[in-house]
Amino acid sequence: MARQSRTTRHPGAAVLRRAYRLMRVRFGHQRWWPGETPFEVCVGAILTQNTAWTNVERAIANLKSARVLDPRKLFALPGRRLAQLIRPAGYFNVKARRLRSFMRVLVEQFGGDLRRLFAGQTRRVRERLLAIHGIGPETADSLLLYAGGHASFVIDAYTKRIFQRHGWAGKSGKRKVKGGKTRETGYEELKSVCEGALNQNSGRQRLDYWQDYHAQLVAVGKHFCRTRAPRCSECPLKPLLPADGKAVEALKR
Ligand code: SF4
Repeated sequence: MARQSRTTRHPGAAVLRRAYRLMRVRFGHQRWWPGETPFEVCVGAILTQNTAWTNVERAIANLKSARVLDPRKLFALPGRRLAQLIRPAGYFNVKARRLRSFMRVLVEQFGGDLRRLFAGQTRRVRERLLAIHGIGPETADSLLLYAGGHASFVIDAYTKRIFQRHGWAGKSGKRKVKGGKTRETGYEELKSVCEGALNQNSGRQRLDYWQDYHAQLVAVGKHFCRTRAPRCSECPLKPLLPADGKAVEALKR
């Protein structure tokens, strides 16, 4: 794990567990991820990159009405037709290529069977997913956590913003990695902090806890911790703001 900067202090387990209780009391269990089947969850996780969920829902509705929401049918679909169907999700040509890359691996290497794709140790399955074109850490962890039954904590833009504003994480950036891909710096560190602190349960309980924890952070990010003008006074995480006022500067970023 990378060393903490002098201005960043990772939260202890007690703080992160309290954060969950505060969010859960406010929002209730979020019952994530929206999707009727694990395969639909996978398609949604790839389509949701850089767009609002309502747009993903429209794209998935198109795939359903065309009766192609199935690994082999999606893989057999010509790229242009696929792009046309997922157009509402934005970046449709890029996302069509990403979906096809995922389908190629799923169909050609795992017989179209998600259970086979997700079989094995979490670390190994994660590496398998990260090797697929267009699947970065956030998408891989979403697939693992919400479709694959693997406890793999998801870090997204909301998580980073909330953690940074509370002084629990440094600023993130990007770096080049093998294969010309870019990776967010700080992702693995933040993931490791959360997984280390929120490990009091195991099995199904841990899976449900981490699924709901991420969903709660998204709810805070959407409703309170906005990029501009965060609504701290009404936010369930207000009691966890640093008392020294350093977050005030961070809030302006
Ligand atoms: S809105 Fe304020 S209190 Fe809520 S998570 Fe963001 S920085 Fe923290």
